[in-house]
Amino acid sequence: MVLPIVIYGDPVLRVDCPPVSEITEEIRTLARDMTETMRDADGVGLAAPQVGVALQLAVIDVAHAPELQTYFRVDGQEAVLSEWMPLVFINPEITPGRAREESTEGCLSFPGLRYQIKRPAQVSARLHLLDGRTITVETDGLLARALQHETDHLHGRLFIDRISAADKLTLKRRLREMYEDIEAEEREARRAARAAARADRAT
Ligand SMILES: [Zn+2]
Repeated sequence: MVLPIVIYGDPVLRVDCPPVSEITEEIRTLARDMTETMRDADGVGLAAPQVGVALQLAVIDVAHAPELQTYFRVDGQEAVLSEWMPLVFINPEITPGRAREESTEGCLSFPGLRYQIKRPAQVSARLHLLDGRTITVETDGLLARALQHETDHLHGRLFIDRISAADKLTLKRRLREMYEDIEAEEREARRAARAAARADRAT
């Protein structure tokens, strides 16, 4: 089931989420729905607070872009990226490398907004999986960035917290434009629904 994605302004995006303490059927269903929601929205990652659930659960899929990682290791062994995607995980612990790199980043809770964000280029991430396993992922590139971005979400941190001072100056205006775009889309959807209802009555 595709879930509605929470947009910036909703307080759930600022919650420091508690860890998942037990992997229940509800958690499995939520993970499936989040994967479907992420794909429906063409995203590479989605965290539970972005669908209104304050828990440390997230999903990532970078299988479409294997060239954006130069290495991918699971528990110290070279691994095949596509075999691990979508990667659903709970209670992540990230150890970032020292080198930093800047790249363009967006977020499904900020439709249309993209910023250059500097982050550690490499990470080691200890992840708990829904089948009870705990793995350590070492990687760089897009996956390293996504792991950091989603883990930030689980602690109420957002990518706009990491933008440059120059970008902060225009952030308010761009957020206003984002909300105006969302409102225009909603008005359009309501208009289409009314038109469809009228067409129904006419036939
Ligand atoms: Zn995000």
